[in-house]
Amino acid sequence: MKTLRGIGTSDGYAIGTVRFLKPHTAKVERRTASDSAQELALLRDAVRQAKEELDALFQEALEKVGEKAAEIFSVHGMLLEDPDYTESIENYITAEAMSAQAAVEQTGAEFAEMFASMEDVFMRERAADIKDISQRLIRKLNGEEAAPAAPTQPYIAAAEDLTPSQTVSLDKALIQAIVTEKGSEFSHSAILARIMGIPAVAALGGEIGEGLDGAVIIVDGAAGQVILDPDEATLQTYQEKLAAFRQEREELERYAKQAPVTRDGRAVEVCANAADVDDARKAVQNGAMGIGLFRSEFLYMDRAQLPSEEEQFQTYKAILEATKPGKVVVRTLDIGADKHTDCLDLPREENPALGYRAIRICLSRPELFRTQLRALLRASVYGELAVMFPMIISESEVIQARAIADEEKARLTAEGIPVAENIEWGIMIETPASAIMSDRLARHVDFFSIGTNDLTQYTLACDRMNAQIGQLYDAMDPAVLRFIRMAIDNAHKAGIWAGMCGEAAADARLIPILLKLGLDEFSVASGSIPRLKKQIIETNTAEVMLPEELRA
Ligand code: PEP
Ligand code: MG
Repeated sequence: MKTLRGIGTSDGYAIGTVRFLKPHTAKVERRTASDSAQELALLRDAVRQAKEELDALFQEALEKVGEKAAEIFSVHGMLLEDPDYTESIENYITAEAMSAQAAVEQTGAEFAEMFASMEDVFMRERAADIKDISQRLIRKLNGEEAAPAAPTQPYIAAAEDLTPSQTVSLDKALIQAIVTEKGSEFSHSAILARIMGIPAVAALGGEIGEGLDGAVIIVDGAAGQVILDPDEATLQTYQEKLAAFRQEREELERYAKQAPVTRDGRAVEVCANAADVDDARKAVQNGAMGIGLFRSEFLYMDRAQLPSEEEQFQTYKAILEATKPGKVVVRTLDIGADKHTDCLDLPREENPALGYRAIRICLSRPELFRTQLRALLRASVYGELAVMFPMIISESEVIQARAIADEEKARLTAEGIPVAENIEWGIMIETPASAIMSDRLARHVDFFSIGTNDLTQYTLACDRMNAQIGQLYDAMDPAVLRFIRMAIDNAHKAGIWAGMCGEAAADARLIPILLKLGLDEFSVASGSIPRLKKQIIETNTAEVMLPEELRA
């Protein structure tokens, strides 16, 4: 038996079998080719190998998990030989002198986009299959080994570090916990684990490797530890802890549907953060009154081509409908820093957290921004929409962003496409500049949402991803609290509302302070809603003592 210590990033316990996940995007090294005939021969050989691999996987799955689960591999086999798909690849090779890899990548992206924008849910799901077979073909063309088949049994995901897109693509029905060699409490994979309500431990070090594949381990998210090779007594202890944890969750459930009003009668909004439509549905079931942060950037990740206006429209429409009558705050593209995408050719930077990201990209590439805004405006008639801009540092950014949105609205109206009249417009307060300028910024918007994850990082000059300085990174630091108070006060002076969508909104130490400071809306991982509501209901703001630094 051996205990590994890391950082507990999401509460809860799991006992299960490890599945080690390697990064899964096959690289396309060669883009052009002079000999098309040779590329076509390579392609045919790769298709044959991929087909054999899929047949073998089908047989294996049939024996292990039965016909229903095995079916996916026969569907992939059929897609691989679909004449439209193969003809498109061959065309790119012959007509545009592409390498076989590049032609597969291009065709895969186009077909996936086409499927993703279809009305029929079943057909939309085929987008993921197309991506999968295209990746398999590229790996074959590269002479790489087969990617491991997606797990079909419950498992604990282990990885060096999960990218946000990998975390999102985990099968939520099977995943029991996430353990990573690297990462920290505020990395996006940790945030997503909390949203999904599964235990997670990060920064466990080099023993989280391929050698762990298949091992039975215990994950203790609260203590931030992982137990390898547990003995009988420890297994027994953790089975009991797991049962007690489940019971406590059940008890908290009764708060989920209650109205969040303090003992002295202050009513606030409790909303959830979401990365996809499933999260939103789950959040509403868990008692969320709306979605306070929809991280739209996840639509842009794990793909080679930008999402089309139509695809985005369908997603925004689905999330608005799933959340109705509650409001959905969609944050416009917040890519950059630790959130990567292959579909934008972004430069490598010395200081990505301080670099070309979020609203900076959107304002310098208006075509990208306009596509997203049009999709949002079109979707606005299907529910209660609010839109907010990330990483704001100045009034001029907000004025520009809103002007572009106004132009797109006018254009849609001229085209006869309806747009809701009651859309709310807001900004994230997540930079010191935006907090300091919040009196002026409030003139241009309907609300603020305080992003403490970045606000803490930038105020304290403390990388949110760096475990070594984790003890300095604290939203309870008086410097951060003063910015929070400033933003709330300036919002209220201007007659607009102030919410918080950073992780601090679920921090039990901070909740009474935020209530006392007058925060109007809390947006948290949906698993945190019952506990948050319980704490709000039990708080009397008249009895809350503010920290000394805030009393002046
Ligand atoms: C934040 O910075 O607090 C926030 C909510 O945004 P993200 O974590 O996606 O950077
Ligand atoms: Mg942020």
